[in-house]
Amino acid sequence: MEKVIIIGTGCAGYTAAIYAARANLSPLVLAGSQIGGQLTTTTEVENFPGFPEGVMGPDLMFKMQEQATRFGARIEYDSVTKVAREDDGSFSVHTGGGEPRQARAVIVATGAAPRHLGLPNEKELIGRGLTSCATCDGAFYRDVPVAVIGGGDSACEEAGFLTKFASKVYLIHRRDELRASKIMADRALANPKIEPVWNSVVSEYLANDEGKMRAIKLQSTVDDSQSELEVACVFVAIGHIPNSNFVADLCERDDNGYILQKKGTMTSVDGLFAAGDVADHVYRQAVTAAGQGCAASLDAERWLADRGIH
Ligand code: NAP
Repeated sequence: MEKVIIIGTGCAGYTAAIYAARANLSPLVLAGSQIGGQLTTTTEVENFPGFPEGVMGPDLMFKMQEQATRFGARIEYDSVTKVAREDDGSFSVHTGGGEPRQARAVIVATGAAPRHLGLPNEKELIGRGLTSCATCDGAFYRDVPVAVIGGGDSACEEAGFLTKFASKVYLIHRRDELRASKIMADRALANPKIEPVWNSVVSEYLANDEGKMRAIKLQSTVDDSQSELEVACVFVAIGHIPNSNFVADLCERDDNGYILQKKGTMTSVDGLFAAGDVADHVYRQAVTAAGQGCAASLDAERWLADRGIH
């Protein structure tokens, strides 16, 4: 029986692992299919404290992994399909391969996946003019036109942030009214650098000879007419999908699937903790996820200690 199993290897998972390992809990970390989490899909990270020159996302995650294993965290490359509660209060963690692992406490740090449109060449363009994170990538697109897709708070926030760098920000929305809260919508629409493109969906991403974003093809949702818009980067802000389906039958989640934290990082289930983007739809930053990973590990450590497990 493991004392604690940590599910996920993004900033939250690795930070939880560092803390749990240093507390002599010898955590087992199950890596999941995207080892290192969302930062492995970005290039340079300029807003993680401690790296004044910036750090490459994959390098940062590799360093976190090294730090966790140095203190005794054990990492296994397996994807969790289900977590179930046993009669004695322990957890069984089911994976794609082998027997389920048993643990006294579990920290879920499986993150969220940005929603994409599902267009044919988007996989090739991610990181080459297609991204879901203005905070991460906005500064790379100075004095060029960019586009944000979406009409919610995220799209408005990203569009506003991007006006610091881009020459123009097209806000492409499939309706003629934003979903965003009034204050954020008003702020976006009052910004002279933001130009809304109403009743439009992106039907195609157009790449240049170097395989980077050159333009987008727009389709009107009113009359199906097509047009082309030149942009150097497209920021997709049509929501995130938390990776929480494997605990759907176990703990409480909100309507969008984010795990609810009830007491600190503890979920509705005693001994089950959640940290990072799988539980946080507001901040969604590497450093806030790391902070929550730390908190979840401390919460789990104290919870175990209360039960005489050290
Ligand atoms: P959201 O509110 O779900 O908005 C998603 C937007 O994307 C909607 O405008 C939606 O259009 C559009 N969309 C969805 N699928 C699409 C598709 N396939 N093609 C084109 N457009 C599509 O998501 P969010 O903006 O990420 O916000 C998530 C939550 O976080 C919300 O509760 C939000 O209030 C919160 N949040 C808060 C802040 C803040 O307060 N500072 C900042 C960011 C997020 P429709 O409108 O037509 O459905």
